[in-house]
Formats: sequence, C-alpha cells, structure tokens
Amino acid sequence: MKQNTCQVAVIGGGVAGLATAVGLLDKADQAGCDLHVTVFEADETPGGNLRTLHQEGWQLEWGPNGFLDSEPATLRLVDRLGLKDRLQPSSDATSHRFLMVGGRMVEIPTSPKAFLSSRMVSKSAKMRMAGELFVPPRRNLGEAAENPSTDETVYEFGVRRLGREFAEVMLDPMVKGVFGGEAKELSLAAAFPRMVELERDHGGLFRAMIALARKRRGKKTDAGPSGKLTSFTGGMADLVGALAATIEQSDRAELRCGSPVETINRDMDTWRVCGPGFNVGPFVAVVQASPAHAAARHLAGVSPNISKSLASIPFAPMAVVALGFDRSTVKHDLNGFGLLVPGREKRDILGCLWTSSIFPGRAPKEKVLLRAMLGGAGNPAVMDLDDEAIVALTLSELRHLLGLRGVPDMIRVIRHQKAIAQYHRGHLALLRDIELEKEHFPGLHFAGSSYRGIAVNSCVKEAETVSAQVIEQLAELPSTTASEA
Ligand SMILES: Cc1cc2nc3c(=O)[nH]c(=O)nc-3n(C[C@H](O)[C@H](O)[C@H](O)COP(=O)(O)OP(=O)(O)OC[C@H]3O[C@@H](n4cnc5c(N)ncnc54)[C@H](O)[C@@H]3O)c2cc1C
Repeated sequence: MKQNTCQVAVIGGGVAGLATAVGLLDKADQAGCDLHVTVFEADETPGGNLRTLHQEGWQLEWGPNGFLDSEPATLRLVDRLGLKDRLQPSSDATSHRFLMVGGRMVEIPTSPKAFLSSRMVSKSAKMRMAGELFVPPRRNLGEAAENPSTDETVYEFGVRRLGREFAEVMLDPMVKGVFGGEAKELSLAAAFPRMVELERDHGGLFRAMIALARKRRGKKTDAGPSGKLTSFTGGMADLVGALAATIEQSDRAELRCGSPVETINRDMDTWRVCGPGFNVGPFVAVVQASPAHAAARHLAGVSPNISKSLASIPFAPMAVVALGFDRSTVKHDLNGFGLLVPGREKRDILGCLWTSSIFPGRAPKEKVLLRAMLGGAGNPAVMDLDDEAIVALTLSELRHLLGLRGVPDMIRVIRHQKAIAQYHRGHLALLRDIELEKEHFPGLHFAGSSYRGIAVNSCVKEAETVSAQVIEQLAELPSTTASEA
C-alpha cells in the first residue's frame, strides 16, 4: 500500500459494495483526495444477487428482474457507467397485473371506475376503502426510530386506513412480491417509508393521491410516479459488469474476488480485514456492504452490541423457478406483468412473472419464459424440497391458471437461502442503536439492502450517500493517518 494514500476497504461486491467503490473513486477525484479502494468479495464473481444466466437462447435473472427508472441516483450511475444505450424498459404489457382472488386470476384495475366494477374485493370492502378519506392520520407518524412503540406493521396500517379485506387481498401480496415477507411482521416505516410520509404530509392516502395528481397535472412524464421497471439488454449483469470493469481498470482500486472476510479488527485508529490466507490493512475506513448476517460475524470481536443487532435482522428464503415453454403449449395470452398470490389463497407460490412479456427477447423465438417465486418468510419449508418437488409444485399451481400443456422446454431452480432482509417491527430503532454504537468506531460504515431499502435503487442511492460520508471523514483526518501497509 502506498504511503499517505487513504486506504478504504469495502466488504461485499454486490451492487451496494460495487456502487460504493465507484462512488468513492469519483468523489475522491472531485475532492482531490488520494484514495485507494479494496473490495473484498467472497464469491469468485462479483454482483451478489445480480447475475444473469444465459442458457440455450434463454436469458434468466438469478435475483432482481430490474429496477424502477424513478431513482435519480441509479440513472446517474447508469449514465456514469456509459450504460444508457443498454437500458431496456419493460414492455407496455406490464400495465396489466393480476392477483389471485378466490382461486382465479383477476386483473388489478388501474382506474377508480374500473375498481368499482371489479371483482377484486367485496362491495363492503369497497365502501370501507372509500371511508379512508375520513380516517384521521395517526399520531406519532415518523417516530418509529426514536419511539419503537409507535412502529406499525404494514398489515396494521392497511387495516386501519383501508380495511381488513384490502390489507389481505392487496397489501399482503405486494409485501410478498417485494420482500418475500409477511405484512403482519414488516414495519411500514422501515419497509415502505413513503406511505408514512404520505399520511403525515397529506392526512391520508386518497388525499395524497389527489394532491399529487393535481401537482402532476400538465407535466408530461414517461412513467408513473413510482417509475417503470427497467433492465439492460444483457440483463442486470450489464450493471455488475460495468461496475466491476470500472473498479478493475482503475489504478486506485482493487476487486478481490474469492476473498471471504472472516473478521474486521480495530488496530489503533485503523482497521484490518482478515480472511483465510489474508490479513490486509491498515484501512482508515471500512464499508460493510455484505449482508447483515455476514457483517455480524465480521464485527463480533469489535462490537458485540453491533454484532448482536446485525444478527437479529432476519432474512427470508426464496426459490425462483424459471420455466420455458413452447408458445403453442400455453393457452393464456400472457399479456401482462404476471400474478401475485395473497396468503389467504393458501397456495404454494408467492407469484409468477411472465418474463418474456415483460422483457421481450428473453426467450427463444416462439417460446415463453415464466418465473415463479416460492418460499418467503411465510413458507420457508419449501426450501427443504428437492428441485424436482419444487418444480412439480410450481407446475401444479400454474397449469390450470395459465393453461399449460405438456412439459417445459427449460427448467431452472435458483435457491436463495437468505434472499431478502426482513425489516420487522422495530427495525428503525435497531438501526438507530447501531448508529449510536457506531460512533465509538470512527471509519466504520454500512451499506446495502439489509438496512434502509431492499431494492437495487435503494442500494445505489445509499452507496452515493455512504461514499460521500467516507470522503467527508477522510477530509477531516490528520494527514499522518493516511496509511501504509
Ligand atoms: C429473488 C430476488 C428477486 C429480487 N428482485 C428484485 C427486483 O426485481 N428489483 C429490485 O430492485 N430488487 C430486487 N431484489 C432485491 C435486490 O436483489 C437486492 O436488494 C440487492 O441485490 C442487494 O444488493 P446488496 O449488494 O446489498 O447485497 P448482495 O447482492 O447480497 O451482495 C452482498 C455481497 O456480499 C458478499 N459477501 C457475503 N459475505 C461476505 C464475506 N464474508 N466476505 C466478502 N464478501 C461477502 C456476497 O457474496 C455478495 O456478493 C430481489 C432479490 C432477490 C433475492
């Protein structure tokens, strides 16, 4: 390591760690800071959940399908990496989304008029929903971090504002689709903070929708307020490839794949990163961008309190089943995004995306690609089944719904034992405790989906914030602390 160069370690080469490393390089340039970044990644390849598999003309995503094009930080990163030309917006078919209601697929209405005539929920549930306008906002909104007794679950929020049936039919599958989680367990403030803001700022959801629609009136936008699902022509691996190449091509950065970190040790005012056959340092800052359960192990010797808090963040498992069919063997037109399944339907699948309708070109000609999700926090036992049993279960659920005939041309089961962090009630208070304890350990930072947003967009946004914080910290260091190994 070079003398007087600020050495920074990033643990974990998923999208959060890679984006943080690139952010550090860019911000160091802007600040005129002499910095070197080392990214430690356990796997032989970087990317974490973001991997795209290519097999015989099929293009499959290992983890995320894409990201919403509404997050400026992600769009800035895409621009910075020169990936704009590779962006692939989802097709217009995605405006048709379905829910399972009473064992059947029902299209989610997109206008109030269509909702009133839909079979989505009962008449009395529709009346209860209309009453949302008169439900007063809750007291202590936005205080979940300081005052955890005010933390409300997504389910409680749904029941309070829109009624039980809405919570069960519409909110529950949304939580399953995004988090693989349970609406009765996840904290609204941690998992869907925007909902808390809308209630606090506008007094309710319908009032917020009216106010925001007024604000948007006359302004031309390509996508709705929440954005359009977007990927890259080569899949999400394009993003990882460009991030990794930027790091590898820099003479101020190193991407060490196949380097599973075991411990991070405090050494006077600096840090050392250790694993099998390596003990590297000193680093003036360490960004923990591995999942919380891994970070908990790394930090056990430094701060048992932080370690214990990190270890208490649960993760839901998920099995992704990719199925390819000949178009002629699927009766349904698959003109849509796909289907989500509320827990009250008591089915084994969480949902099924019609991938080749969302992103045309992901299946060979005259073929269609489906992607079912199973497991989640509510049904972890699915993970004990072997691949054959998981596929049989998936087919038994989908055969009737989509009119599948014959056997799939292509099958791939992808298992995520610890797929997605679950922000349970009390999550924000837990993060606050970690923040307070972290003050005793200057140079320690956290990034990634375990904390303040599980989406790719949240990881990229946080990477911007954390890299800026690190550079700010480095600017305050006495020059002697910039180190030598
Ligand atoms: C099935 C599935 C579908 C999803 N769909 C979407 C979607 O459509 N849109 C969306 O926005 N988000 C989606 N997500 C969420 C999104 O994929 C994740 O939030 C995001 O990829 C998390 O990135 P990360 O860098 O925080 O973590 P990870 O991707 O988990 O990366 C962490 C990295 O740390 C490494 N690591 C772990 N331990 C160590 C160690 N000891 N030493 C060194 N390195 C270590 C891991 O190998 C990994 O590379 C989905 C997730 C899953 C599982």
